[in-house]
Amino acid sequence: MTEMQDASVFNAETGIELEHNRPENLVEEKAPHKTTIEITGLREEYPVGFNACFVVGVTCQEKCSLSGGTILIGDIDDYILAEQTLNNFDSCTGLNTTDSFYVKIPEIPGNHSFTVIYFPLGTGTDTNNMSGSDSIKEEAELFKLNSQIVSLHSITQTEFSFEANPHTTSVLAWRDELVPVPVGSEYLLHVGINCFEGCSLYGQKVNIYQDDVFISTVEVLEPAAKRRGYYHNEVTLVAPAEVGMYTLEFRFQPEESDLSHNAKPCQFFLTTTLKPQCRLDLTAINVDDNTPVEYANFFVQPKEGFPGQVQANSMGKASMNVCWGEHKIYATREDYQAVFREILIPEGQEVFEMTFAMSYFCAFY
Ligand SMILES: [Zn+2]
Ligand SMILES: [Zn+2]
Repeated sequence: MTEMQDASVFNAETGIELEHNRPENLVEEKAPHKTTIEITGLREEYPVGFNACFVVGVTCQEKCSLSGGTILIGDIDDYILAEQTLNNFDSCTGLNTTDSFYVKIPEIPGNHSFTVIYFPLGTGTDTNNMSGSDSIKEEAELFKLNSQIVSLHSITQTEFSFEANPHTTSVLAWRDELVPVPVGSEYLLHVGINCFEGCSLYGQKVNIYQDDVFISTVEVLEPAAKRRGYYHNEVTLVAPAEVGMYTLEFRFQPEESDLSHNAKPCQFFLTTTLKPQCRLDLTAINVDDNTPVEYANFFVQPKEGFPGQVQANSMGKASMNVCWGEHKIYATREDYQAVFREILIPEGQEVFEMTFAMSYFCAFY
């Protein structure tokens, strides 16, 4: 049997036997049973700080029940992250499993590895001799020292590695109105950040750039009512003095200590228009019974400048400030036929009223 003794394989660093060939512990000269460890639920990638759910399984080549054996999971520093017992045994497959349990993935992005060690149940004591140490390496050494185990199974260990990724985080900017902003005037923007893992990003900052020039910083301080999962804040900015289209870019600036979040910048196009000269009052009514078409949408395209959009209220009415001159206007609602009109607002006119008579779609099935 000397050949068998020589066959024991030890991990050079921990001194733990990798294969449980310990013939000196056997009562009879039987070949020791080879055990293998498997981890169910293991993924290649996790979000940092994630509570990963695992089940550890140990199988003996002879399909022995290993019930009562202990599983320890340790991190790269040998710190014990979880201690579990092999509670379940399937006599058909020979698979011994722990109940499912959670292990926290490290907070630092990058490649990580965990060590899993199987400690067989001590036959002499009916209990495992875990010393209560925080170190998986110490536990393994103490176990080997203290246990005068006569067993067919000995300590087995394996390692697994995975990638911890920063959380997918998105930045979003939006306005309550979709009309162009008059040159040089103030306008209100909402800026929000959302972590897909559901973290609170309260107090984190977003920097705003206009055509690549820094213009402002926003601290997100409250949950957004209209955008679920977003922490947001309002910011008042001043539109450029020239009519045109501008690119606003919103760049998430995570706190220095926060390695868990990164996000691609989001862009927003801002269009400016001349200062309004006239108020355009729009009404949408149902052509059949003259009732208001609630929440109809009006798209207004001036001959010069950028289009605007406004939604009617429950009375079918909406207003918008425009310049004198020619405009194309569409009134739409998904269950009505769109109505298109062209108008000329004469110079000097302060209010221009228009009514759109809309026909309900007759749908025959
Ligand atoms: Zn066995
Ligand atoms: Zn997060």
